[in-house]
Amino acid sequence: MNEPPALSIRGLRRSFAQGGETIEVLKGVDLDVRRGEIVALLGPSGSGKSTLLQAAGLLEGGWSGSLSIDGVDVRGLDDRGRTAIRRQSLGFVYQFHHLLPDFSALENVVLPQLVAGSGLAEARRRAADLLGALGLAARLSHRPSQLSGGEQQRVAVARALATRPVLVLADEPTGNLDEATAQKVLASFLDLVRHEGSAALVATHNRALAARMDRIVELHEGQVQPVAQAVRVPG
Ligand code: ADP
Ligand code: MG
Repeated sequence: MNEPPALSIRGLRRSFAQGGETIEVLKGVDLDVRRGEIVALLGPSGSGKSTLLQAAGLLEGGWSGSLSIDGVDVRGLDDRGRTAIRRQSLGFVYQFHHLLPDFSALENVVLPQLVAGSGLAEARRRAADLLGALGLAARLSHRPSQLSGGEQQRVAVARALATRPVLVLADEPTGNLDEATAQKVLASFLDLVRHEGSAALVATHNRALAARMDRIVELHEGQVQPVAQAVRVPG
């Protein structure tokens, strides 16, 4: 069977009106992410990585072009339809963990599953499995403030994968960590995404981290361009 890509974007344009001027940030982005594929989105600060991820995450309107998630053209959807896709088909990891401060690590990973319709026992089992796979088996009842920065991001990774999304969107997921911790958290993230079979689009400006993903594309002057594999570095 011919499965649709996890993400398919054609001719995506997005501009912002700013002080009487219009800034064109995305000028016709074309990008496919296949099911199970992990794609690094490179580009310097201000190149539009977050703008692209917010469009793909159905978090913002205001763009034109076409965008499909798992074969569903999202232009035809109303608010409810977009929310359903976000909950069931997408997972998000941000630069800052955005965990709920009054809930434990386990509860933070349970909650999106309950919202998506899972039962409590199954949701707790899956949350414990994911956190265990990320090396947090001894941290299940810790609150975010009782965890290190790297541990907080691992919980955010578990939360993003909890509902078995077809596509994970990650916006500089290790950008707030020191280099050594970033390497380790990214390695765990990539292992888990591969094990789960999700696809991922990961914005970063770190070429060494990008080189560990399946494919690299770069945002340049408002368009997405392939990057030659020559940038791959060992390790
Ligand atoms: P990146 O994530 O690659 O650093 P962004 O997508 O955050 O880049 O921003 C790209 C450009 O779009 C920047 O010049 C930024 O100032 C502009 N921009 C982003 N969001 C807005 C907004 N809500 N209003 C006006 N300009 C914006
Ligand atoms: Mg950004």
